[in-house]
Amino acid sequence: MAIINKILAVDDSSTMLRIVVNTLNKAGYNNVITAENGQDALKKLMENPDVTLVLSDWNMPEMKGLDLLRAIRSDDKLKGMPFIMVTSRNVKEDILEAVKAGANDYLVKPFTVESLKEKMDRLK
Ligand SMILES: [Mg+2]
Repeated sequence: MAIINKILAVDDSSTMLRIVVNTLNKAGYNNVITAENGQDALKKLMENPDVTLVLSDWNMPEMKGLDLLRAIRSDDKLKGMPFIMVTSRNVKEDILEAVKAGANDYLVKPFTVESLKEKMDRLK
């Protein structure tokens, strides 16, 4: 289904963002750009129309991952964008809410290269 080319990784924690990018690289995804919150992510998506996947943290100031997801799903140009939500708590309600808002999948922090690969393969 989706060919993963350029990935936008979003997290307000620079440490976490570094870990996510590192994990993506280890999984073989080297074309990764970053954003530090939902607002920044929307700006980066406008500047980078070649992004083919968004991997976003849930809890962030400015704009949370769930609001970013909703903004993407209600945008004519972006609505088909594959989106993986990254959460720090493995709570069923959160996951359901993300799926209901249109998330393709979710990852619970901290995640391994293997679990990331598994989710990426499922998008295809
Ligand atoms: Mg956060």
